[in-house]
Amino acid sequence: MSAALASRHDASPMVFVSTRDGAEAALHEAIGAGLAPDGGLYVPRAMPSLDRSAFGAADTLADTARRLLTPFFAGDMLAPALDDICRHTFGFDAPLRALDADTHVLELFHGPTAAFKDYGARFLAACMARLPRSDGRRLTILVATSGDTGAAVGAAFHRQPGLRVVILYPDGRVAARQAHQLGCFGDNVQALRVAGSFDDCQRLVKAALVDRDLQSRVPLSSANSISLGRLLPQMAYYAHASLAWWREHDAPMNLVIPTGNLGNGLAALWARAVGMPIGDIRFACNANRTLPAFYTGGPYVPRDAVATLANAMDVGAPSNFERLRALFGSDDAVRADGFAESVDDGEIRDVIRRYASNADELLCPHTATAVRVRERIRLAGDTRPWTVVATAHPAKFDSIVEPLAARSVPVPRALAAMLERGSQAEPLASDADALHRWLNAHP
Ligand SMILES: *Cc1c(COP(=O)(O)O)cnc(C)c1O
Repeated sequence: MSAALASRHDASPMVFVSTRDGAEAALHEAIGAGLAPDGGLYVPRAMPSLDRSAFGAADTLADTARRLLTPFFAGDMLAPALDDICRHTFGFDAPLRALDADTHVLELFHGPTAAFKDYGARFLAACMARLPRSDGRRLTILVATSGDTGAAVGAAFHRQPGLRVVILYPDGRVAARQAHQLGCFGDNVQALRVAGSFDDCQRLVKAALVDRDLQSRVPLSSANSISLGRLLPQMAYYAHASLAWWREHDAPMNLVIPTGNLGNGLAALWARAVGMPIGDIRFACNANRTLPAFYTGGPYVPRDAVATLANAMDVGAPSNFERLRALFGSDDAVRADGFAESVDDGEIRDVIRRYASNADELLCPHTATAVRVRERIRLAGDTRPWTVVATAHPAKFDSIVEPLAARSVPVPRALAAMLERGSQAEPLASDADALHRWLNAHP
């Protein structure tokens, strides 16, 4: 692209549209609302196209993020703050290191709650804190979590003035350390343990967000992976890692991504769509087979989530699927681009055990699904190098990893500090009325 064309492109404001009726929004409106009014998800009306050579070899992750996201912020009231938002969000690195001769691991778990969701949550909080609120009322951020989102959002919004977070998680279906983290914040962050699955929690949040009566009394937004403010920053580590790889190897980076709601996977697809040097992208799922069944030719059929060892991926109705369809235009085009594979709990255990004893590698159960899919790719005769995305630190899942690895997992400092605090969560029935009543009683 010529410089003149590039700069003209940068100057025109980016418009976001709903995946359903095409309603338009500016960036800050899309981020503030979470879900579009018609229940759809916001996507860029047109993907910008970035010039790889505009990124410098000495760029930090925060620099890469700023360059990458500039066209998405073009013409928006948040544009002047983009640099600060990126510096705040990307204060910790996403290192790439070798796992074996032709496999690398992109570690996304060096943030305060030890999972990749810290990036999205911190970026979203930094954006939300800068949005004007006309009536001066406190905004409540609802977040349904299968474990890691809630903690990341709680940490990112803790003690932010004018904002409150209500976390909904499936009671008994998150790891003990995850549950502790969810309830440890206090102040403006409250945890509700729901008698149901993650999909139930997600359903309650969606119902509340489109409940006009409730919204008029308790202004609501969401922080789920449907939120544009979480998706956009997740593109940045893929851009940064793939640009470094491309400079060194003159080849695109192929990725295997542990996948649940498809937020992290979609961010990689978007990063590639804007021109980052990313090659093939494969999704590793656990025993929840909605995406694998779709990719092998079946219709998209959401199903009930089943509980697995990789609980942050226990999703039967991946919330970003509408964005996947919107990106490719048709189901066949989605399928032609890649695949999603299912990895069961037995294989997850086997991978964790083998890598701990043969390679001295401790893997979280989510990362283990991607390592297994990477092994299958090699077994199928593909000799190219691949990068596996490590989405959480194994210490978050000590009760699973330690017995398999037959040793203790060192706990990162930030996680240890959270575990030392007290923790509490209120019970909630799994129906929309119960959440409606709770929010009315706690405006
Ligand atoms: C959330 C999460 C995933 C799944 O990411 P999606 O964006 O929902 O696909 C994978 N691994 C871990 C550790 C997570 O917390």
